[in-house]
Amino acid sequence: MTRPELATAATDAFARIHGGAPDGLWSSPGRVNLIGEHTDYNEGFVFPFAINRHTVVAARLRDDRMVRVSSGLRDGVEEVAIDDLAPDALGGWSAYALGVIWAAGQLGTDLSEARGLDLHVESDVPLGAGLSSSAALEGAVAVAIDELWGLGLDRRTLARIGRLAENEAVGAPTGIMDQSAVLLGQRDSGVLLDCRSLESTIVPLAFEAQGLAVLVIDTRVEHAHANGGYAERRASCERGAAGLGVSSLRDVAVDDLERAEQVLDEETFRRVRHIVTENARVLAVVDALRDSGPRSIGPLLAESHASMRDDFEISVPELDLAVSTAVAAGAIGSRMTGGGFGGAAIALVERDDLASISQRIHEAFAAAGFTEPATFEVLPSQGATRV
Ligand code: ADP
Ligand code: MG
Repeated sequence: MTRPELATAATDAFARIHGGAPDGLWSSPGRVNLIGEHTDYNEGFVFPFAINRHTVVAARLRDDRMVRVSSGLRDGVEEVAIDDLAPDALGGWSAYALGVIWAAGQLGTDLSEARGLDLHVESDVPLGAGLSSSAALEGAVAVAIDELWGLGLDRRTLARIGRLAENEAVGAPTGIMDQSAVLLGQRDSGVLLDCRSLESTIVPLAFEAQGLAVLVIDTRVEHAHANGGYAERRASCERGAAGLGVSSLRDVAVDDLERAEQVLDEETFRRVRHIVTENARVLAVVDALRDSGPRSIGPLLAESHASMRDDFEISVPELDLAVSTAVAAGAIGSRMTGGGFGGAAIALVERDDLASISQRIHEAFAAAGFTEPATFEVLPSQGATRV
């Protein structure tokens, strides 16, 4: 769906469910991480961009203190009084939306006089595919309340509100990458985020300007973040940092790896090597984009994937096949993206090659007997905004 179609769908559903017209429509994109995986909780660098897939929220102020929220993807209306908002009182999908309102109160917004809201959500960001439908939902609600309640909050504060909602109201221990990407993104640009200082820099990608496109290959393999793998990798990183006498792996340089190999056990060393080299690759991509343009970043994407496959061991055969097939079919570069253990890969391709590369990937998955992947194009896009 295009954004105008989403806006129409949201307006129609709003009228059906809540009655009448909304005061306005706000939208937030999903995001793709171009490079920098598992570096966020090591106080390192990530480099995501907002995409041209959106969550649109139709919103209207009420005369009482109730918040009522519905979604085109879910039955029914969830409702809670502003005074009853608390993490324990929230659950299910609506915790992402209602949690944003609670989190705004936690981060300094005075909710004591705030009017209630009717909200309806429509989205074409696939859920759970690693494109951050969760941050898209949080971002759309955050910009809606910011304007409807006249809060005048800056984008960084809105990102912190979204993250707090996700951490406390939903209970997902994520960093601030997703919310930063969807709130700060700019057309044809990426958001370089330093996860230690939380400084962000908009870096032109020039994919669109140079006739390139990003192909997303959603393997449809369920990622099991919450369990096992993710927690284990975090623990490895903490063990590695402790073994090297630093507070986080951000403080380990590529030149320190020789010493790290002597101090750490073999597996912990490989986990550390991924983080340390990945941080360096994020900065190298930014330099390469500036000095040589987007066609020069292919080898760095390839190294990133190999590091996740061999050192961090978070890839799966479907992701490896997507990446190797994309490159064999002519992609400039390709890597898995997101937390791993399933989810999506991305390939940077010449716009003219999109269809043929996509077809080769479908053929390769069929030949391997894998579930058919979903493949689609994304463009680096503007962050959350009023529609
Ligand atoms: P991702 O962010 O990668 O898409 P998450 O598990 O973090 O995956 O977030 C997905 C969850 O967010 C869904 O299961 C659902 O609870 C909620 N969600 C996101 N967008 C919507 C929406 N438009 N309508 C209802 N729930 C949504
Ligand atoms: Mg998410």
